[in-house]
Amino acid sequence: MGRLILVLSFAAGLAITESPRCDTSSQHKASGVVYIVFCVDTETDGFNYGRFSQSLNLNSFKKGNIVDQALSSTWRDSLTDSFDESLKISWFLMTIEGYRPTSHGINAVAGEFLRMFSDRIPKLGDEIGWHYHHSDWYHDSLSRKTGWNMIRTFSGRIYNRLSDRELAMSHLASFVYHNRLYPASFRAGWLWENNDFSNWLDSVIPFDYSNNWDAVDEQLFMYHPSTHDLFTPGDLSRSVVRAIDAVDSAYVRSMFELAAAGRPVILAYYTHNYGSTLPRNNAIKRTARRFHELFCRYSDSLGVPFQYSTASEAVNRTRGIEMPSEYYLSVRYDSSSGTLYAACDSLTFGVPLVCVRIGEEIVGSLMEHDTDANVWRLRLDTARVDSFLVAGVSKTGETFVCGPCTPSNATAQNRNR
Ligand SMILES: [Zn+2]
Repeated sequence: MGRLILVLSFAAGLAITESPRCDTSSQHKASGVVYIVFCVDTETDGFNYGRFSQSLNLNSFKKGNIVDQALSSTWRDSLTDSFDESLKISWFLMTIEGYRPTSHGINAVAGEFLRMFSDRIPKLGDEIGWHYHHSDWYHDSLSRKTGWNMIRTFSGRIYNRLSDRELAMSHLASFVYHNRLYPASFRAGWLWENNDFSNWLDSVIPFDYSNNWDAVDEQLFMYHPSTHDLFTPGDLSRSVVRAIDAVDSAYVRSMFELAAAGRPVILAYYTHNYGSTLPRNNAIKRTARRFHELFCRYSDSLGVPFQYSTASEAVNRTRGIEMPSEYYLSVRYDSSSGTLYAACDSLTFGVPLVCVRIGEEIVGSLMEHDTDANVWRLRLDTARVDSFLVAGVSKTGETFVCGPCTPSNATAQNRNR
């Protein structure tokens, strides 16, 4: 039987955890820490939802413009927390169905961001997450418009070309395949989720910062949702975290008061990479500065420390995890049967993902349990598959990407063994 142990590549480098300097001031002793997460939904500017095919505006990613300015270490160091650490940003990079007919492709925004800035992300301790607008080109009966409309189903219904479920899977698989990067954190476009989508998301991503929902108690800053009602705490595995958009002084104060009672708290807020590129009008910097002033005010008045954290770090820190365990999958490809196997330990969150390239398409499939409960498998249609990649994430957000590999070179390498 032909077998190949694929070369493993560990891709956890984008969310660097540094040792925090301990806060020793006596005024903070009795309280919990407020872990601050700044989310930026990273998109293109001025998208025309009524136009099928169009060019992208990627100006915000140009050197010297809004994103570049927000990646300045000098500016970051001007905003420090109670541990004298600088502001961190969790960038939720958008995949885009709307631009598919153009040459830009589904990964245009994420690809451009990473092409320009990926080398600066680990140095600043930032994190890369995934931002997904569940949409397609179709006639929406509610808005009575044909355009790139938001989809409200996740039931297998076909839209322009693919079903709602296939769309989400193809976006995630494209993000992972093209960027060789698995996102541990997620934000939903338009904050849209329903129970079917929530249950699917629970198989692939451990940290979900989409909650700015009226249906959820404002004080419930983090919870595991229910299978039957994503707005209610329940039996699912991922952590849903509240992230606010408005600079809400009363909410910020209430989170610091919660921590003052002795428990760790997450306070997340979000903005976009839109608008003026003039430094004084930079929306990312302006939002960070306004929130920072509130954090300093309530930290001082209530004696509660705050710590800038990434989306993954914040959840781990509330659980007392500062340095998550290293994570990888043991992957092998059985060329005689065209079957991929991935063995894991108990650290794996959800189900490993296989991203397959067929021509220009990237198709995603979740692996299935083998007879051995600790092994997953997936049969590939080797006559059609050009290349494939296996990826996964641990419960603490460490990520793993292996590949891409082609069935033929896997077989050829196997013969050489
Ligand atoms: Zn968005």
